[in-house]
Amino acid sequence: MHPFTYTRASDEAGAVTSGSTDRASFLAGGTTLVDLMRLEVMRPESLVDLGGLALRKIEESVDGSVKIGTLVTNAELAYHAAILKGFPVLSEAILAGASPQIRNVATTGGNLLQRTRCPYFRDPQITSCNKRVPGSGCSAIGGVTRSHAVLGTSEKCIATHPSDMAVAMVALDAVIHIRGAKGTRTIPAGDLHELPGQHPEKETVLAPGELITHVELPAAPFAKRSRYLKVRDRASFAFALASAAVAVQLEGGTLRAVRLALGGVGTKPWRAKEAEEMLVGKKGDRAAFTAAAARALADAKAQEGNKFKIELAQRTIVRALEEVTGGPA
Ligand code: SF4
Repeated sequence: MHPFTYTRASDEAGAVTSGSTDRASFLAGGTTLVDLMRLEVMRPESLVDLGGLALRKIEESVDGSVKIGTLVTNAELAYHAAILKGFPVLSEAILAGASPQIRNVATTGGNLLQRTRCPYFRDPQITSCNKRVPGSGCSAIGGVTRSHAVLGTSEKCIATHPSDMAVAMVALDAVIHIRGAKGTRTIPAGDLHELPGQHPEKETVLAPGELITHVELPAAPFAKRSRYLKVRDRASFAFALASAAVAVQLEGGTLRAVRLALGGVGTKPWRAKEAEEMLVGKKGDRAAFTAAAARALADAKAQEGNKFKIELAQRTIVRALEEVTGGPA
């Protein structure tokens, strides 16, 4: 492992200051970072341990919104009563990911910022990876692509974003609270991750030293009636081939509000806004769901090895929508 310095931050301001130095990384649960440091894929010069910060609380408001500290573990979040009752899609998404051991240490902020599982990225012996070594090429394009993305890709990178939790947060209109050297700011969860474009090495809109402090789940009329459906190669400890986070507000059989986000198919947690809009005001039958699913994947660009994902994702969307609305109409 590459040598590094270690600092344990005692407050948020100190963490931001220490994290703003060149080639520093924040350390929370370490389930991604330490893994990639051992592989020598990530080689930070300094680690800023966030473990001493008072950011491990889940706070409920009277209006039904919930504020989640960045150090809340995935297990704590998935099994919290307010999440199970008010935001089931989030609980289901978290429990569909990783293993119980990992969920006990992985954190909310760390999960959002976890890095791709593209096997070419994770192997430093492979020289062509634009995300790891900008300008070096992409070994996946023309290579083995079963796990790769079909939405939001570029000619520089087709890596899939691996988080299930982030997909649910995008569907729930979650708000990310950030603290940096210039103060605090908030952004929608859907705006946190960048498309690869010409610079796949830049994965989020966070500036160096900016710290995710909280994630806020607003009280929304669609949050309770929500579902996460994940399709994968084996029943546990596997990343999504395709997944759908759906949340709906249903009145008298009519869809008044719809949220649809996809995992396993996008280079970022993928919000399917046009598909959502097609469903609002509809009765929500299989024909409507199928048309919306087709719209959600209309811009997909596949490689030979991952073209199966286009139909798989559409079927996943239809089934998730049927389940959340009470079964096939
Ligand atoms: Fe690297 Fe992205 Fe290509 Fe994978 S898909 S090899 S992460 S550039």
